[in-house]
Amino acid sequence: MDFAVPPPPIPSVPVIGAAPFPVRRIFCVGRNYAAHAREMGHDPTREPPFFFTKPADALLLPGAAMPYPPATEDLHHEIELVVAIGHGGAGIAVAEAQAHVFGYAVGLDMTRRDLQAEAKKLGRPWDMAKAFDYSAPIAPIHRAADTGPLTRGAIWLDVNGVRRQAGDLADLIWSVPEVIAALSRLVHLEAGDLIYSGTPEGVAAVGRGDRLHGHVDGLTDLDLVIV
Ligand code: MN
Repeated sequence: MDFAVPPPPIPSVPVIGAAPFPVRRIFCVGRNYAAHAREMGHDPTREPPFFFTKPADALLLPGAAMPYPPATEDLHHEIELVVAIGHGGAGIAVAEAQAHVFGYAVGLDMTRRDLQAEAKKLGRPWDMAKAFDYSAPIAPIHRAADTGPLTRGAIWLDVNGVRRQAGDLADLIWSVPEVIAALSRLVHLEAGDLIYSGTPEGVAAVGRGDRLHGHVDGLTDLDLVIV
C-alpha cells in the first residue's frame, strides 16, 4: 500500500516585519483570570498555575476559516494572549523570563466544553476536549522588541459583532513572566514554543457561520469564521 508523503509537520506563524515563526509545542494555562475561574466553579485564589497542551498542528493560521469540529455540541471560544518563546531554558527566574519572549499574538483556545465537562466528571484527560484539529487559531505574531512587554491592555472577543469576552491583561492571576517561570520548572522550554496564557470570563458556545473577532491592545486582531 502506498501512502502519500505527509505535509511538513512544523507550522510557521507569520510575524509582523520578520520571518515566520516555526512552532515547536503549544502549552496552555488553565484558569488564569479570576472571573473565569469563578465562572467555571473554582476558587481563583488558591490554585498555582496548571498547564495542558495541544499539538503544534492544531494551529489554525491567520486567514483560515475554522471547520466546526466533530464530536461536540458545545464548542466554546476562549480569547487569549499567546506568548511566543524565542530563547529556551529551564528553571527560568521570573525576573529573567521576559528575555525569553520572542513575541505575542492574539489566539483562541477553542474547547469542546461538553467533552471537557465529561472528562472532569470522570477524572479523565482533557486532550480530546482541548487538543483537537484547528483548536488553536492564532493571529500574526508581533515581536516583543517592537511591542515591549505586554503587562496591561484590553483583551476582548466579539461574536457576530456582539462583545462576549472582555478583560485586561493586568488581571492575569499569573503574569506572563510568572507563567514562563512556572512552566520552565516542568519542561525545558525551547525556541518555537507557544504559551496560550488563559482567558477572561464570558466563554460561551459558537456555531457554524459565526464570525469571531478577537483583540489584544497593540497586536493584530484575530478574525475568523466557523464553517
Ligand atoms: Mn484557555
